Amino acid sequence: MNPLLQTFNTPHTTAPFSQIENKHFKPAFKAAIKKAKAEIDDITDNSEAPTFKNTIEKLDFSGYTLDRLSSIFFNLNSAETNDEIQKIAQEVSPLLSEFSNDIRLNEKLFNRVKSVYDQRENLELSVEQTTLLDKKYKSFARNGANLNDTDKTKLREIDMKLSKLSLQFGENVLAETNAFQLHLTDEIQLKGLPDGAKEAAKMAAKEKELDGWLITLDYPSYIPFMTYADDITLREKLAKAFGARAFQNNKHDNQQIVLDIVKLRHERANLLGYKTHAHFVLEERMAETPDKVIKFSNDLLEKAKPAAEREFKQLSDFAKKDGIEKLQKWDGAYYSEKLKKQNFNLDQEALKPYFKLENVIDGAFIIANRLFGLQFKEVQNIDKYHKEVKTYEVTNANGDFISVFYADFFPRKGKRNGAWMTSYKSQWKKDNENSRPHISIVCNFTKPTETKPSLLTFNEVTTLFHEFGHALHGMLANTVYPSLSGTSVYWDFVELPSQLLENWCYEKEALDLFAKHYLTNEPIPMEMVQKIKDSANFLEGMQTLRQLSFGLLDMQWHGAGESPETINNVKEFELNALDDTRLYPDVAENCMSTAFSHIFQGGYSSGYYSYKWAEVLDADAFEYFKETGIFNKETAKKLLDNVLSQGGTDKPMDLYKRFRGNEPSNEALLKRAGLTK
Ligand SMILES: [Zn+2]
Repeated sequence: MNPLLQTFNTPHTTAPFSQIENKHFKPAFKAAIKKAKAEIDDITDNSEAPTFKNTIEKLDFSGYTLDRLSSIFFNLNSAETNDEIQKIAQEVSPLLSEFSNDIRLNEKLFNRVKSVYDQRENLELSVEQTTLLDKKYKSFARNGANLNDTDKTKLREIDMKLSKLSLQFGENVLAETNAFQLHLTDEIQLKGLPDGAKEAAKMAAKEKELDGWLITLDYPSYIPFMTYADDITLREKLAKAFGARAFQNNKHDNQQIVLDIVKLRHERANLLGYKTHAHFVLEERMAETPDKVIKFSNDLLEKAKPAAEREFKQLSDFAKKDGIEKLQKWDGAYYSEKLKKQNFNLDQEALKPYFKLENVIDGAFIIANRLFGLQFKEVQNIDKYHKEVKTYEVTNANGDFISVFYADFFPRKGKRNGAWMTSYKSQWKKDNENSRPHISIVCNFTKPTETKPSLLTFNEVTTLFHEFGHALHGMLANTVYPSLSGTSVYWDFVELPSQLLENWCYEKEALDLFAKHYLTNEPIPMEMVQKIKDSANFLEGMQTLRQLSFGLLDMQWHGAGESPETINNVKEFELNALDDTRLYPDVAENCMSTAFSHIFQGGYSSGYYSYKWAEVLDADAFEYFKETGIFNKETAKKLLDNVLSQGGTDKPMDLYKRFRGNEPSNEALLKRAGLTK
C-alpha cells in the first residue's frame, strides 16, 4: 500500500518518512482527491434535510487524508526538497486548486450550508459550532456564492484581471530591481563596507564577468551599502534608484496598475456587499473594521511622534558634525548605525558563547514546563525525514500525551531560508477521542563545527523562542474541529503566542535558567542583556513612525481614503497619505506605492497594520505576566485556557479579553519601546 495513504493518529504512528519515495506522491494525491470528492458527494447526496452535523461538521472532517498528505508534501518541499519534489509540486498544484475551486463553486453544497446558516438562531449551537458555521458559510459567500449569474461572471472577470495585474506588478518590480546596477571600479568607493559585503560585491561583479565590485538593488546588496558606505553621492544614487522602481514612465511602470488594482478591489468589495476592500478584508480580522485600524494607528502615531521627532533631531545633529546640513533618506541608515555604535558598541559575538543551542532549546522547554507543566522527552522511535531532525514526545503534568514535536535546526541544501513552524497533523476531537497534533519547527541556525558547538546569536535565540511560541499554540490546541485548531486563527492574532514567548529572552529570571557560558558555565552578564534591550529600542520612535506610515498608506489605498474612482495621481495620493508620518524630505522622483509589493502583489492588502497590532498585543499580554510574575501559574493558565488551547473557536478580541480582563492597550508597548518619556 502507498505509505502516504496510511493513517497516523497517535504518537506511535507518525508520518512514515522512511517509507516514502517520490514516486508515491502523485498517485497518493490522485487517490486522496478522489476520496475527498467522494466525501463531499456523500454530503450533497444525502436525502435528509441539512443539519449542522450532516453538513457543516461532516464538511470540516472531509478531505482529511488529502490535508495530511498535503502537509507532508509541502513541508518537505520547504525543508528537504530537490528537483524531483519541485517538479511534482508543479504537477499537483493545479490538481489541488481545481479541487478547491470545485468545492467553492459547488452549488448543491452551498445550498446545504446556507440552509443550516439560515436556521442558525434556532439550532442551539455552541460558540465553537457557531464560529465554524460562520466560517464555512463565509468561505462561499465571500467568493460570490450568493450572487446572481451576471454578477458571478462579473466577479470572475474581476478576479482574473486582479490576478493578472498583481502578477504584472510583481514582474515590473523585479524587472526594475534587476535593471539597475552600480558598477564600482575603485575600492575607495566601497569605504566603510564590512569585508563580507565587499566580498559579496566582488563575487557579484565576477558573476557578470566584470572587474571590481557590483552593488544591486537586491536587499542583501542594497541594505549593507546604505548602512555602511561612506560615499554619500553613491548612497544617494542607489537610494534614488531604489525609490524610483516602477515609477519611471517606462514599460515597467506600475502607476496605472496601482490605480487599476485599487479600483477593481473596490468594485469587487461593492459587488459582494462591502463598503470598501478594507471592510471586506477586515471582516475576518481581530481588528474588524477600517475605523478601528485607523484609530489604533493614529493613537500610536500621536504618542510615538514626539519621540520620533526628538530622535530625528538627535540623528540630524549627529550628522551635522559630518557636514550634513539636512538629513536625507539616504543618510538615515548610515548615521543610525554610526550613532548606535557610538552609544552601545554592542559586540554580538561576545554573547554567542552563552547561547549554546542545546542550552537554549532546554531553556524553552523549562519555561514551557514552569508555565504549562509540559515535559519534553527526546525519543528515537519517531520516523524522521532527515537524520538531523530531533523528535520529542510531549506530555503534560499528569503524564498525558500532548503532542509530537519535531525540531529541525540547521541549514542544508534543499531547505528554504528563514524559520517557521508547521504541522504534520492537526488536533481534533471525534467520537470521544482527542487526537493530538504533530508539530514541527524548522530553522536555519549557526551550525556546530569540529571545535565548537552551535552557538546562537541573540537574534537566533529570539527566533527560536518565536517559533516555539507558535509551536505551543499548535501543541496545546484543544478544540473539536480541525479547521479551528491551533494556529488556525485570524492572521492579526496569530503572532500573539510567538511574539509573547520572545519576551522571556530578555528577563533575568528566565535567562538564569539556560544562558550559561558553554565552557565555564558562568551565567550571562545582565548588563549585556540590558545593552541588547536598549539597542533594540534605539530610534524606536522613528521605526514606529515608519511602520505606521506603511500601514496608513495601505489603509488609505483600500478604504480609508477617497473613493478609488476619483484617484488619478499615485504620487499625489501617496504624498497626502504620508503627510502625518513624514520625517525626511520627500524625493520627487521616487514613489513607494509603485513598488509596495506587500499590498499590491502579495496578500497583505489592508493588513500591513498587523505588524504593529501584534506588537501591541504581545507587549500588553507580557505586561500581565510582569505584573503577576513571569512564571505565574495562574496567569499562564488563563493564557492556556483562553488563548493557546482555543485556536480560532471564538472572536479573537473576546478570547483576549477573557485572558487579560480588558482590550489590549498600547501603553505597555510604548513603555517597552521607551517612547513614553
Ligand atoms: Zn511568526
